[in-house]
Amino acid sequence: MNMGAIGQMSCNPAMGGIAKGQIVREIDALGGYSGVVSDRSMIQFRMLNRSKGPAMWSPRTQNDRARFAEEWRLTLERTPNVHFWQDSVVELVTESSSSGASSGETAHPRVVGVRTALGSTIRCRSVVLTSGTFMNGVMHIGDRKMGGGRAGEKASHGITEQLVRLGFESGRMKTGTPPRVDGRSIDYSVLEEQPGDSAPGKFSFLPSSVPPATQLSCWITYTNTAVHDVLRSGFDRSPMYNGAIAGTGPRYCPSIEDKITRFEDRDHHQIFVEPEGWQTVETYINGFSTSLPEDVQVKALRLIPGFGDVRIFRPGYAVEYDYFPPTQLKHSLETKLVDGLFFAGQINGTTGYEEAACQGLMAGINAHQLIGGKEPFVLGRDEAYIGVLIDDLITKGTEEPYRMFTSRAEFRLMLRQDNADLRLTPKGFQLGLADEHRMRRVESKRRWLGDLTTHMRSTSVSSEAANEILVPRGTTAVNQKVRLYDLLLRPQISFSDLVVFAHSDDPDISNPALPQLGNHAMHGMNVDPLLRQETIEQLEIGAKYGGYLEKEREAAERVVRLENLLIDPDLEYRKLGALSMEARQKLDVFRPTTLGQASRISGVSPSDISVLLVYLSR
Ligand SMILES: Cc1cc2nc3c(=O)[nH]c(=O)nc-3n(C[C@H](O)[C@H](O)[C@H](O)COP(=O)(O)OP(=O)(O)OC[C@H]3O[C@@H](n4cnc5c(N)ncnc54)[C@H](O)[C@@H]3O)c2cc1C
Repeated sequence: MNMGAIGQMSCNPAMGGIAKGQIVREIDALGGYSGVVSDRSMIQFRMLNRSKGPAMWSPRTQNDRARFAEEWRLTLERTPNVHFWQDSVVELVTESSSSGASSGETAHPRVVGVRTALGSTIRCRSVVLTSGTFMNGVMHIGDRKMGGGRAGEKASHGITEQLVRLGFESGRMKTGTPPRVDGRSIDYSVLEEQPGDSAPGKFSFLPSSVPPATQLSCWITYTNTAVHDVLRSGFDRSPMYNGAIAGTGPRYCPSIEDKITRFEDRDHHQIFVEPEGWQTVETYINGFSTSLPEDVQVKALRLIPGFGDVRIFRPGYAVEYDYFPPTQLKHSLETKLVDGLFFAGQINGTTGYEEAACQGLMAGINAHQLIGGKEPFVLGRDEAYIGVLIDDLITKGTEEPYRMFTSRAEFRLMLRQDNADLRLTPKGFQLGLADEHRMRRVESKRRWLGDLTTHMRSTSVSSEAANEILVPRGTTAVNQKVRLYDLLLRPQISFSDLVVFAHSDDPDISNPALPQLGNHAMHGMNVDPLLRQETIEQLEIGAKYGGYLEKEREAAERVVRLENLLIDPDLEYRKLGALSMEARQKLDVFRPTTLGQASRISGVSPSDISVLLVYLSR
């Protein structure tokens, strides 16, 4: 609707974080641009959860809001075959479809274009609807409400009503954002500094993407009971508490009103004070999302340490919008009711840039596949967080804004941020999305990892040589020859501790090929230090977590076997009397296409799955 808003971050200028960082890495590995753009616009990088195991490591960047949008616009303008047209879509053009009628399937209408507010009709073979918080959007600040999808931007009308006429079910959700303040009015001397990582990482696997030489710090402060009292004094004018907002809000990104109500006994809540960019004093108050009246927002903020004289640039607000329960979609994100029509992002009941970005990418890929007469591209739950997210949405639906967590992924040790390229770049390359350069890097990494693992497994060192390393690091000594790979299994030992053996002239070292550890296997990697570092990281994780990884792989294979058992989408569940009543109803609504999907529908129990298994094997 406004070309100036391309790449606009509606809420905080940050990408990634727990589980979301993994998604950005996956988008990058497939050949999408979220990682590259975030790297180019980062003002701070932190790897969250570094004290935990590698499955939990989650990259996060604080971004320059203006530069993020600018980089996106540039990237899109430089992409061949991407065209722009500023306008509002007011209606989808559909035609009755003849496909399927002959095969006995139900015939659905097909989307053939869109009509715009300026009166144009744009014909097409597929549409991806990514309307975010805009459809019938209503913004609330205290007891004032106004139409709009985001501060300063108009709402969009007409499409929901048309989709409902076509048989879709729609609902209302809400989300909110905190006030932005003038950084010059903050007393940073009383805040806790949160600098970026001393050796900052980045999202993109591409070597051309590099973190900035300097970073900006974020800061931490806390609310207190006086702040909470002032906030409570505004509840009678709060749209959340006087019934003005009907939509369901994000449980995991609650407003400050919600926090002080839900956690009544807590006398403080953490607030992150985050810069919005290199060139601006505007500052984002993360953790203080609110739709209370402005006067209450200012009064409460000024009681927070460091904010005694704070000046607000823009007040916090809430927005309510239409969404469509995502159980109305196929795994390709194409709707079940209108052929060629895809939904992606907040319209599917999700919240968050990363959740929206990966759906946009998948819907885009699948619109392309559809037009080309190719099979849909679907990622499994054992292949990507993106696969988990889409499968959750399609098979379980969501009653509140859905965001990703590591706990949603049952195979999270396999779905790490560090191996996203090994998991997904070959798929992206096959689709024509990841380029050859990316693919070659992944092939080199895989080859070097194989070579290095073989070397480590086939090379032993004497107990004396090994103990020189083991003892100072406080790990049990050995009394016989030991393989280098077995030394690497120990948490106290890293690859760099073992490199010394590559140059050893110890006559007891049993494998004459050992010097090659530093030469042959590592030779190529010296050319590309990033790839070398990433390969060594894979080797170490593979060694230290090998047992757990193997167990997870076996469990994933069992799930894949269930996924391979196809169910007729028109199966008459009502006739399967051995199923529980709830399972019959749910299966009838969700119409899973595999036994795996059926098993994840809430209300379908393991005994219902056994019934289906017996039925299918007949
Ligand atoms: C106030 C607010 C607070 C938020 N807080 C958080 C948060 O704390 N944490 C978090 O992770 N996420 C938050 N989000 C959510 C995050 O911004 C969204 O999840 C994400 O941006 C959704 O991406 P999207 O692509 O689906 O839609 P959006 O980013 O909303 O983009 C939708 C686009 O579609 C365009 N559009 C809509 N209708 C039409 C039409 N009819 N014709 C043409 N164009 C149209 C709009 O102009 C807009 O450019 C917040 C969003 C808002 C608005």
